[in-house]
Amino acid sequence: MDVKNQIEIERKYLVDVVGEIPNPRISDICQTYLVSDDGSVRRVRCRQEALQGAEPRYYYTAKRRLAYDRSYEHEEEISESRYRQLLAEADPSRGMVRKQRIVFYYENQCFELDCFFAPVVDHLLLEIEGAETAESVIMPPFLRVVADVTGLPDYSNSRLARRVVNEMTVQHNVSLRPYNTFGIDACADSFVTLHNEANFRELIQSGMLRQKPFFILGGGSNVVFADRYRGLVVHPHNKGIHLLEKRDGYCYVEACAGEVWADFVRYCIACGWHGLENLAAIPGTVGAAPVQNVGAYGREAKDVISRVHLFYIESGTEEWMDAADCDFDYRWSVFKGRLKGKCLIDRVVFRLSESFEPCLTYKALANAFEEQGISHPSASQVANAVTAIRDAKLPNPSVIGSAGSFFKNPVVDSHQAHSLLQQYPDMVVFPVDENHYKLAAGWLIDHCGWKGRNCGTVGVYPKQALVLVNNGDATGADVKALAHAIIDDVYSHFGVTLECEAIFVE
Ligand SMILES: Cc1cc2nc3c(=O)[nH]c(=O)nc-3n(C[C@H](O)[C@H](O)[C@H](O)COP(=O)(O)OP(=O)(O)OC[C@H]3O[C@@H](n4cnc5c(N)ncnc54)[C@H](O)[C@@H]3O)c2cc1C
Repeated sequence: MDVKNQIEIERKYLVDVVGEIPNPRISDICQTYLVSDDGSVRRVRCRQEALQGAEPRYYYTAKRRLAYDRSYEHEEEISESRYRQLLAEADPSRGMVRKQRIVFYYENQCFELDCFFAPVVDHLLLEIEGAETAESVIMPPFLRVVADVTGLPDYSNSRLARRVVNEMTVQHNVSLRPYNTFGIDACADSFVTLHNEANFRELIQSGMLRQKPFFILGGGSNVVFADRYRGLVVHPHNKGIHLLEKRDGYCYVEACAGEVWADFVRYCIACGWHGLENLAAIPGTVGAAPVQNVGAYGREAKDVISRVHLFYIESGTEEWMDAADCDFDYRWSVFKGRLKGKCLIDRVVFRLSESFEPCLTYKALANAFEEQGISHPSASQVANAVTAIRDAKLPNPSVIGSAGSFFKNPVVDSHQAHSLLQQYPDMVVFPVDENHYKLAAGWLIDHCGWKGRNCGTVGVYPKQALVLVNNGDATGADVKALAHAIIDDVYSHFGVTLECEAIFVE
């Protein structure tokens, strides 16, 4: 087994990935810090390469800092039984650090990019070993440097381990304002954050969910709260993305419910796992994506979901549900139907393709590439174009509160569609099947004169009639009143009933 004694010189940067990483080698790392009485930092690490049939390998490391950017390091590969023995010496003040490491070469320099799942770090941490000065490093164009953190104690893994929270935390009288994109200033009686799978089990087994009303809250981008939620808000915040296997040209990737959807999409693109590009920049979490079968620009989550892991609240049992059993439909799934409020999703497995084929069925997307003369865009070009189109027509939730498209596009039978088309020849209509047509809800609302209309604390977004916005200090009741006024008006004009996509939580 390998033993290394060396002076390690490294530079560290916080970065964002803005393109595709060439030939990434990916592994999952769990590292545990051990008690030490001589000032050195001791740790054990389990490392598993994301390759079919790869066995986990175990390492023991002792490090002593010599200067801000260098340390003396002893590292040896150890057996699994030795690893388990050493775990008994784990430092109780530090949690287990879990991260995925992407190793790649650029201009003959080896780069190590860490995506932290526990604790959560806002950006990826890039380590460049052997680089003495910043000048000697050519930074790859697909990385955007946020900060040089070389030598900063807060970014040493041993310090990060102190931030790992493993406890299930229940708080009371919690403001929900930071937890909903509409920016409604509501308050929850109690609020529980789930950091890991053990927390999910603990909550289910505690019986808390059977005693009081509860609501599962991901990123709060599809909800409108009333002033007070008199129950328990359950907030999945578990992190982790793992390549499970590669089979028949597909990568099976598991992502935890608390992962931010938009970050997950970008991460998959960087790793060369394809199929999510058109779903870039949708707010919310991975756990909520199957609930309404998120969709945009010609793709839906159902196209790439392989299976969903969930806990049944009543029985406490858990199950892997295949995509085929999820009843996926337009903005619909079994989790909005038969299983509404009955289960808690903790992870989702996606079936992503190793090769990339752009989906440009959406006209605005195809036009964007035609204008630039690009016939076969790359995965990141598609995601960037989708993001640009979204930015141009949807409000940024951190600036203007909204829940995205507030209403679903209504589906009507062909008889009604044809008689409406006779009256309104420019009406926007998409065929669904032989007997049904989908109408553009935005067109109906716009035609009733609502686009850009202000109604005190709430209004209709001037660039997209489907989006209701918070003009400041909106309450859930204000949003509801506006939504109902629009529904009534559309019905009296067209005889079509709009259905809310956003969920009122009362
Ligand atoms: C600006 C903007 C643009 C948007 N664009 C789109 C778009 O293009 N396409 C689209 O489909 N949607 C869009 N949306 C809506 C929203 O992003 C999606 O519905 C998203 O999936 C909601 O995720 P969330 O984590 O915020 O869920 P939340 O709003 O917190 O919850 C939504 C529902 O999912 C349930 N839920 C959440 N997590 C779990 C879990 N772990 N287990 C069980 N149930 C759970 C909740 O109880 C609730 O019923 C947009 C929203 C905004 C604000």
